[in-house]
Amino acid sequence: MKIDISKLSKDNVIALSEKCAPQALDLEMPDVEFAGMLEVNLSAEKKNDTAIIKGELFLPLMVTCSRCLLEYPQDLRRKIAFDYTVGRNDTVIDLTEDLRSEIILTYSLNPLCKPDCKGLCQKCGEDLNKGRCDCNSKS
Ligand SMILES: [Zn+2]
Ligand SMILES: [Zn+2]
Repeated sequence: MKIDISKLSKDNVIALSEKCAPQALDLEMPDVEFAGMLEVNLSAEKKNDTAIIKGELFLPLMVTCSRCLLEYPQDLRRKIAFDYTVGRNDTVIDLTEDLRSEIILTYSLNPLCKPDCKGLCQKCGEDLNKGRCDCNSKS
């Protein structure tokens, strides 16, 4: 994802709204499926030789609960703010790398379908959210 900064100036703030396929960012996230387009809403302005990019990214995901293995939708949302030093001849800023790291930072490594997910029984694999298994009563 790239921003054209050629029109940026001290008094010219550009608002930008873009969608792109998350695959384009070359994201590697285990146990995650992309459930839609990556949306980025930004404003860009330039002060002296610094381009200041602020905004928010949004990415709908299907993730797998780390305890009970249920797949559930989870929207990843993050406020972003980047500063780039730009030279006189720079006309384009490539945000791809920074967007990718923001998404990876935001993504939870141990997603839970709900905060008190009981997970699966380690002996029989029963989903303990749906009810108790017989393992404890027998032992
Ligand atoms: Zn769960
Ligand atoms: Zn059990």
